[in-house]
Amino acid sequence: MTERTTHAVVLGGSLAGLLAARALADVADRVTVVERDVLPAGPEPRKGLPQARHVHQLWSGGAHAMEELLPGIVGRLREAGAHRLPVTTDMVALSPYGWYRRWAESHHMLLCSRDLLDATVRAAVLADERIEVVQGTEVLGPVGTAAAVTGVRIRTHDSPERTLSADLVVDCTGRASRTAGWLTDLGLPAVERREVNSGVAYASRVFRAPEAAREAFPVVNVQPDPRAGKPGCGGVLLPIEDGRWIVTLFGSRGGEPPTEAEDFVRYAREELRHPVIAELLAHAEPLTDVAYTRTTANRRHHYERMPAWPENFAVLGDALCALNPIYGHGMSVAAQSAVALRDVIRRQGWGAAGLSRRIQRAVARPASAAWDLALGMDVFYPGATENGPTLRDRLLAAYVGRLLYTATGNGRIARRVTDVTSLERGAEVLLAPSVLLAALFGPLKPPLSGPPLTAEERKAAGLR
Ligand SMILES: Cc1cc2nc3c(=O)[nH]c(=O)nc-3n(C[C@H](O)[C@H](O)[C@H](O)COP(=O)(O)OP(=O)(O)OC[C@H]3O[C@@H](n4cnc5c(N)ncnc54)[C@H](O)[C@@H]3O)c2cc1C
Repeated sequence: MTERTTHAVVLGGSLAGLLAARALADVADRVTVVERDVLPAGPEPRKGLPQARHVHQLWSGGAHAMEELLPGIVGRLREAGAHRLPVTTDMVALSPYGWYRRWAESHHMLLCSRDLLDATVRAAVLADERIEVVQGTEVLGPVGTAAAVTGVRIRTHDSPERTLSADLVVDCTGRASRTAGWLTDLGLPAVERREVNSGVAYASRVFRAPEAAREAFPVVNVQPDPRAGKPGCGGVLLPIEDGRWIVTLFGSRGGEPPTEAEDFVRYAREELRHPVIAELLAHAEPLTDVAYTRTTANRRHHYERMPAWPENFAVLGDALCALNPIYGHGMSVAAQSAVALRDVIRRQGWGAAGLSRRIQRAVARPASAAWDLALGMDVFYPGATENGPTLRDRLLAAYVGRLLYTATGNGRIARRVTDVTSLERGAEVLLAPSVLLAALFGPLKPPLSGPPLTAEERKAAGLR
């Protein structure tokens, strides 16, 4: 008797797709990734990843998940030039409640260009001979019934349509995912979908950092104040590989950043709540034009709540839950979801009844955690929701606001806040009695009057 072999097909070869493929290779005999683009050999841009021209920070919650799937990946990224920044030690951040102090390390971020991140992960994933990538190939839709998917139809520009059979199909095609329509075509009911759009636009440029600041420099982040009663404008400067800085300026409806290079620094100086980013850019050399996007809406499909779900099908990454990038959580959620995917299959085994439904419920959990964090802020932007924030939203925001204010002058609370923003722990840690009590007292130290750059950092960046 021949033993049955298992074949998983992943749709989309970006970060969620690659990490899902890696996760599936631990439990399936073969994995095929179908990607529309021809993938570059190294850290090069590609059409299907336009967001790579904007800042991408990877929080430690996501870095740990990636390391679990690909042991040694963080070391490889560091060797390739990614920076590891201790949080909040190497963060110069203006919150809506004042400047954060630079406390001892609680968590960290990995910083590099998105192209470098993807190229490094791609090389590591595709080195596994059980994983094959079918590139330059369009996914047309699933094959099967409302009860079970059995494969996907694909087409390459120079060859006729064909079907790939699969024991599991995982949609990782990002915001462009067509799963909602595919499922209704199969006869399933429409999925519950929610969108909260703060209307934030992103404008980004890459700069060569001043020479003395190329080896190491903190993240600089000027956040908007949603309570200000006007459009929220902010900016973030991240050190990336090769002595470069990537700077993204962003603004909500009515406060959008400029599309023209000559207005970039002016916006950073005049529209942000502090001009520190403009001051730093005065000594940096621009290397690129402005890249612009409005693809920032929070959009979630509650596939885990569907009354019926086909066997052998799952949805992960931005296809399931796309987040406002300001919070920097999309890649971490993708990595944590890939771990959850692998763990459910390991526990249940192939062929277990309701396996896909369990997968869908498991991958919804990391998505939910980040979704709640994003909506906690974004519902306050004008026009983000049809009916505006609910009473619950307002009460929650008042408490989170008090915590952020406390964190500006209390290191223990800053640690608790970053437990959650780094996606290392769930939001319940913010409800511990000791945290509630600290929030009642407020900050223990007085507010800072300006950005906490050290004298060496100021000198390295050419500031007085
Ligand atoms: C401006 C911006 C900034 C961001 N910043 C951050 C950040 O700082 N930190 C963070 O963690 N996250 C950030 N994100 C989110 C992050 O980019 C995504 O979460 C991440 O790329 C994972 O997405 P994905 O793999 O699900 O989808 P995508 O990255 O969108 O990839 C989808 C893939 O599917 C392919 N595809 C699509 N349709 C088809 C088809 N029919 N057939 C074949 N292939 C197809 C595409 O070519 C693409 O390769 C940001 C997003 C944006 C837009």
